[in-house]
Amino acid sequence: MDFTMRMYERICESLKSYNIVTVSQYLTQKVDSPFVIIRHDVDRQPKNALKMAKLENLLGICSTYYFRYPKTYNLDIIKTVNSLGHEVGYHYEVLDKAKGDYDKAIKIFENELKVLREDFDIKTICMHGNPLTKWDGKDLWNYYNYRDFGIIGEAFLSCKTVSFYFTDTGRSWCSKLNMKDNFELGKECLKVCSSLDLIQLLQSCRTNKNYITVHPERWSNNLIYWTTALARDVIFNTGKKILQVGLRK
Ligand SMILES: [Zn+2]
Repeated sequence: MDFTMRMYERICESLKSYNIVTVSQYLTQKVDSPFVIIRHDVDRQPKNALKMAKLENLLGICSTYYFRYPKTYNLDIIKTVNSLGHEVGYHYEVLDKAKGDYDKAIKIFENELKVLREDFDIKTICMHGNPLTKWDGKDLWNYYNYRDFGIIGEAFLSCKTVSFYFTDTGRSWCSKLNMKDNFELGKECLKVCSSLDLIQLLQSCRTNKNYITVHPERWSNNLIYWTTALARDVIFNTGKKILQVGLRK
């Protein structure tokens, strides 16, 4: 079965010959290749993020967890994730919340960031891509500068030297349904559909500058939980297909 915590563990185990870094480490340190940036978008179920964070900690891995406010902002859980050595970042969706009003959006950004910083040293941010809204959250930075808020990088915009981007969005590593979670790399196209494909590729060390995004809520060893996540993905993917057909018309 794919998308189990055990499978995620196998992915982590396939990274033994890579430097594994958080987003802020990537931005502030000299990172030798081959490397992998690991990012987690905690869109829902923060408890599962904690499980993943504990597993990575056991494997000696530090990654970056982006939390939505207030949707997945569970203070106790985030404090534990942070204490395990992981970076905590802000998964912002302010342009959606402000319904496309840039001035309103930046005020919400400032306020929410302030709340997060009461407990955490937030250095990086990451746009939450809601497929059901028409706004791309990153567009906010065409008008404002996140550096003015003491932020050193945005998870999509700042990772410029990456060659390969892999995301579990759409419950596949090669989904055409990644409407907002994508990178324009224009590099070699690799066929990676399942986690086993990804493991094989990583073990072969054919790729040197990698970036992996994993949504913790998708990964579970618990059959009921796993089935719920599967059903949610099927519903979302169907919705995205309808949207894509609509956009093409
Ligand atoms: Zn998200």
